[in-house]
Amino acid sequence: MADLQAILDDIHAELAPRLGEGKVADYIPQLAHIDPKKFGMSLITVDGAVHKVGDCDEPFSIQSISKVFTLTMALGKHGETTWNRVGREPSGSAFNSIVQLENEGGKPRNPFINAGAIAVSDLVLAGHTPREAIGEIVRFVRYLADDETIVIDPAVAKSEEATGFRNAALANFMRAFGKLTHPVEHVLGVYFHHCALAMTCTQLAHAGLFLAAGGSNPLTGHSVVSSQRARRINALMLTCGHYDGSGEFAYRVGLPGKSGVGGGILAVAPGKAAVTVWSPGLNHNGNSLLGSLALEMFAARTGWSVFGSA
Ligand code: GLU
Repeated sequence: MADLQAILDDIHAELAPRLGEGKVADYIPQLAHIDPKKFGMSLITVDGAVHKVGDCDEPFSIQSISKVFTLTMALGKHGETTWNRVGREPSGSAFNSIVQLENEGGKPRNPFINAGAIAVSDLVLAGHTPREAIGEIVRFVRYLADDETIVIDPAVAKSEEATGFRNAALANFMRAFGKLTHPVEHVLGVYFHHCALAMTCTQLAHAGLFLAAGGSNPLTGHSVVSSQRARRINALMLTCGHYDGSGEFAYRVGLPGKSGVGGGILAVAPGKAAVTVWSPGLNHNGNSLLGSLALEMFAARTGWSVFGSA
């Protein structure tokens, strides 16, 4: 077995001269003001070993990584009928693209582009007020990470709401096709709040561990989803988790992963570990530039690509 801590330490040291590369998201002040040189990685193996480096215990805005958790909740509530509301195909378009919605009758192509995550928020809202649904999401993520300290950053949620015209356009467009069952403001409220979850790399690795371990968290013994469902969520992360950069991430890293514009990535090595990275500078697809590179180095050094180790 490779020395995982040494691999993380080496990646950190090798990337140190490049910290600050990429463009930090600037659509809200809370993200624009983050120090671009932050860098952290955490890794938790299915047998409970924890390895970490850098700013791995500093909370950051997980943004779209939260879409993995809301999808898991929607599938728990609605089962396979979830797929009547959102597809399972990569989009090849930007995260906030509206064009495909028109061609596909208001049904988003997958749950990880913004339109798809907004449709998933609508599903999570079923039977709840927005406040209850947001509370349920926070409780679920705390349960996954086994950490009661995880919270939503209220300033980020407020800024998302104040600047989210494009997301409002996506929601209204779907509503016009009869694809949302709750008021647009309620659905967007849920969406903006889950994007504003603040977590550390270590908390995120904990929360994603069930996807590496066949649906259960081996550290807590919590059974989250069936192994079939874990496998399928991983498949969606691999094909759709990096927007129009998903093919590139699969090619370079070869692990299911979900990125967020806060600069975080949750990656899953099935049967082995959950690995997270945070580096705020983004590439042109809105995915962490050095975070992707760190995971590429990690996959090469561990031989953990799902496509083979040679
Ligand atoms: N809150 C961001 C948005 O809705 C999330 C995008 C992302 O993390 O990729 O635009």
